Amino acid sequence: MTIIGIDLGTTNSLVSYWTEDGAVIIPNSLGQNLTPSVVSIDDNGDVLVGQIAKERQITHPEMSASVFKRNMGSKKKYILGSKEFIPEELSAIVLKALKEDAEHYFGAPVSEAVISVPAYFSDAQRKATKRAGELAGLRVDRLITEPTAAAIAYGLHLRNTETKFLVFDLGGGTFDVSILELFDNIMEVRAVAGDNYLGGEDFTEILVNLFLKRHSLTASELENKTLSLLKKQAEVAKRAFSEKKVATISCPINEETLSLDITLEEYDAATKHLFQRLREPVERALSDASLKISDIEAILLVGGATKLPLIRSFVSKLFGKLAFANINPDEVVALGAGVQAALKGKEASIKEVILTDVCPYTLGTSVTVRKSQGFHEPGHFLPIIERNTTIPVSKVERLYTIYDNQKIINVDILQGESRLSKDNIFLGELNVPVPPKNAGEEAIDIRFTYDINGILEAEVTVVSTGLKRNIIIEKDPGFMTPEEIADSIKNIAHLKIHPRENHENKLVIARGERLYEEKIGSDRQEIARLLMEFEEALDKQDPKIIEEYRNKLNNIFDAVDTKGGF
Ligand code: ADP
Ligand code: MG
Repeated sequence: MTIIGIDLGTTNSLVSYWTEDGAVIIPNSLGQNLTPSVVSIDDNGDVLVGQIAKERQITHPEMSASVFKRNMGSKKKYILGSKEFIPEELSAIVLKALKEDAEHYFGAPVSEAVISVPAYFSDAQRKATKRAGELAGLRVDRLITEPTAAAIAYGLHLRNTETKFLVFDLGGGTFDVSILELFDNIMEVRAVAGDNYLGGEDFTEILVNLFLKRHSLTASELENKTLSLLKKQAEVAKRAFSEKKVATISCPINEETLSLDITLEEYDAATKHLFQRLREPVERALSDASLKISDIEAILLVGGATKLPLIRSFVSKLFGKLAFANINPDEVVALGAGVQAALKGKEASIKEVILTDVCPYTLGTSVTVRKSQGFHEPGHFLPIIERNTTIPVSKVERLYTIYDNQKIINVDILQGESRLSKDNIFLGELNVPVPPKNAGEEAIDIRFTYDINGILEAEVTVVSTGLKRNIIIEKDPGFMTPEEIADSIKNIAHLKIHPRENHENKLVIARGERLYEEKIGSDRQEIARLLMEFEEALDKQDPKIIEEYRNKLNNIFDAVDTKGGF
């Protein structure tokens, strides 16, 4: 059975598989390679995923959810109408849709996937991703980090020479920099850095703000619908910069169509501060890996936003060389996951490679230190596994009792980079009994083991008695009990996913409804008339008539979306 590769993105998700000619993307029910990571519930309580949900998010924000990958591994609640979801359930719904697309494509069931995750994903986030797969009915034995997937898609794992390279991934709302090194067939992630709140959307936002400023408007005085239309137009203008030196945004506001022409130079100047923010993580990753810019032999561009020519030239100026961009940057991670899926399935067509990764954060414990004045101060962080350590890794630290007759040693498991324990993330704790002796006479060994899937295990051994305890991280923020998982599986199984055969029609209606809400006056009436005609065509149940009418409507709506009106 074919194992699929999945890029479960913050903005867009994709599914791929391996063929004799390499990895290929499997299109969704609308024939598109990218499925927006958006979930919406329709009026019948059916679940919609992707482009249709993205349209509905504008008209029915209270029934829709997006960007939930940011909260993966937490129990943040998303309320969609009468239903409640946590991020991994929403991710499971997206995965289920991708699984169905693959099954439809193969005409056979799919039960296993390799899913990519950001290199900085914590233990809880990785576990949550695996569970999301499980909830969607997919076995996920192997996760792959996104930069590693991109490198594999470029075939860098097949090189015979030692290579150091950097993956520059700018998605919709996240920026990830990873430095990888290949030697003796081993791909190693040497360092990761990034900005969780910087992405292509910030480059769109700049255009929105320029438009508002030019017309002396503020975002808060516009209706949500007008603002989302303006964002849409700004997105179109942003993409136009790939071909043109001037872009135009026009948007109907208060019964008047306002517009703005902006040159590439003006755009460049307005985005300067964003480029400064892009530079910082690059520098941090280089310094963590103890490398100079000149040590980097290749740069891989990943993420839809790296299609912006301004970003491409920024990267080549920064590194003094052209970046790899010949594989579509928004497909490259999914393609790499597809290659990895084949490696896992052990099809003979590609060379096996051993992959290693890094632990994205420092993991450690809390200790009491003795101050020069002789008093003890608890709450100091002691790193055990430093960030960017290659995994799998296992490290031991020995700690001693600090009080006479101390009977218990408390071991906290913490994640973070701060000097004080309270500023780091608390993952769990364990108390171990020690024989009461003089201070410093009893000791424990704390072993932290971080495996290839980013799963942390801790073991404490009392040196004198040999007593061992495995630490189960109890307060994993996204921890689900077996009962909760069973409930979740049931919940998701009960959700009615909208039948894929009708997706194209459903999308036309969702688009029409969105446009209806955005417009007023005669435009609005015209949209209502077109939608009614389409519904009549649907009632006739003749696939040919429906298709003809659908194409006609799509063309009209495309024009309305680009021109801002009829
Ligand atoms: P993610 O990894 O977050 O799921 P993607 O890699 O799909 O995201 O990137 C989405 C971002 O790429 C969006 O901000 C979108 O505006 C941007 N993008 C996609 N195509 C282009 C293009 N041709 N020009 C500029 N930006 C683009
Ligand atoms: Mg991505």
